[in-house]
Amino acid sequence: MATELLKAAYSPDGFKKNGQLILQTLVTRLQDNLQGETERVIGYQPPEKSYAFWKEMLESQEDNDWLPKLLEQTTQVHHPRYMGHQISPTAPITALTSLVSAFLNNGMGVYEMGMAPTAMEKVVVEWLCQKIGYDDTSGGFLTSGGTLANLTALLSARRRVAAANVWEEGTQNRLAIMVSEEAHYCVDRAARVMGLGTEGIIKIPVDGNYRMDTRRLQSAYDKAVEAGLEVFAIVGSAPTTATGIYDDLLAISEFAKKAGIWFHVDAAHGGPACFAPAYRHLVLGIEKADSIVIDGHKMMMMPAVTTALLFKDGGDSHRTFSQKATYLLEEQEGEDWYNLAKRTFECTKYMMSLHWFVLIQQYGDALFSEFVTTLYDAGRNFAKILEEEPDFEIAITPMSNIVCFRYTGCVAANLNQLNRQIRHKLLEEGTYYVVQTSLKEGYFLRATLMNPFTTQGDLRRLLVRIREIAGELS
Ligand SMILES: *Cc1c(COP(=O)(O)O)cnc(C)c1O
Repeated sequence: MATELLKAAYSPDGFKKNGQLILQTLVTRLQDNLQGETERVIGYQPPEKSYAFWKEMLESQEDNDWLPKLLEQTTQVHHPRYMGHQISPTAPITALTSLVSAFLNNGMGVYEMGMAPTAMEKVVVEWLCQKIGYDDTSGGFLTSGGTLANLTALLSARRRVAAANVWEEGTQNRLAIMVSEEAHYCVDRAARVMGLGTEGIIKIPVDGNYRMDTRRLQSAYDKAVEAGLEVFAIVGSAPTTATGIYDDLLAISEFAKKAGIWFHVDAAHGGPACFAPAYRHLVLGIEKADSIVIDGHKMMMMPAVTTALLFKDGGDSHRTFSQKATYLLEEQEGEDWYNLAKRTFECTKYMMSLHWFVLIQQYGDALFSEFVTTLYDAGRNFAKILEEEPDFEIAITPMSNIVCFRYTGCVAANLNQLNRQIRHKLLEEGTYYVVQTSLKEGYFLRATLMNPFTTQGDLRRLLVRIREIAGELS
């Protein structure tokens, strides 16, 4: 029997009251953020202070006004002065599709527990494959984040290419993958999870522009084979996370073909360049990849996390996890696309296809084209602004919306230390949010222009503020 407390927790009236309040608060927040009226992009709190605050709120049980306080102490991705990590300012409609998914809570593991979203997933995956330039033998699915998707792709590669059936027999040979030294750390992590160890991760050095140096591929491969390794895959980055530089996918694909190994593209951030005519050339050759990862929550305006894992040969997406779970998955002849848990790491997964489907349906492909074009253009423009300033330098000419730069105006100063201090001061002030990265030349500030409402004025004022901070520090 439902108790009074349970009835209260499920009250439709309560849902409505809370819902209206939350929605009104978020609408106001969106308005204020887009117009830059919220003063702080980030209400930075040291971890211990934040912990104490929320612990006290839970224990006191009096003040239950959590939302305004949450907003004060979070990072506002819709703010034009947000230029931090690579996460989308969510298109508001996808915050609502999140709500619908959360409410319906269809687990998506088997068809009956998510019929519509499973079918929608097939529709959007096919749409994406077509945009990439794959033919209709391709396929794929949505999964929980680029990290998991990269691991899944490498498992598929091993299944297809490695001589032994590692899934059944365990590791037989010393397996290895090849990847740029600048690739996202999750590729390294995936390889270690798969038992490849340090020697099984062949890191290819980058050239002066932070691109995988493809002239070194053959010799690195030969050396590995001589050492007794069985190389089964190579990973290209489109682009790398730290610098936003795209690897030469065409050159890597040619090498992979010659070597007879799997070609995987980690396009978590920059796959959507395929929508933008002005930037499509960056992913030239991507359609030759055996598998591709694209995050919806980076350059496609969706809430975290939702990631497409696409396969040139759709059959590969069915063979990665051949495993029996008879209570869940009825044995079927052939490949049933509609029982997703057979193909994904997850058993239960949220109805992420809703975001993709509704965005495409409401706004069409043009939305993605305009988002990518606006932001990649902004990256170039910011680099131009920086080049005009004698007391700033950029690490490399950006190929995307990721710009690495630093203040160089104090000749006597230790630039690493100075820029680190500048970044900390910016974080404390919270008026701008930029992050940092360590490159060969040292410590750099890193801006990812994720918000199409960021203006050149915002960027110029950021530089003014940095200069002032440098003055205060010295
Ligand atoms: C962000 C990113 C990842 C990790 O993806 P998550 O969705 O955060 O798990 C992997 N590779 C690249 C190139 C990325 O930019």
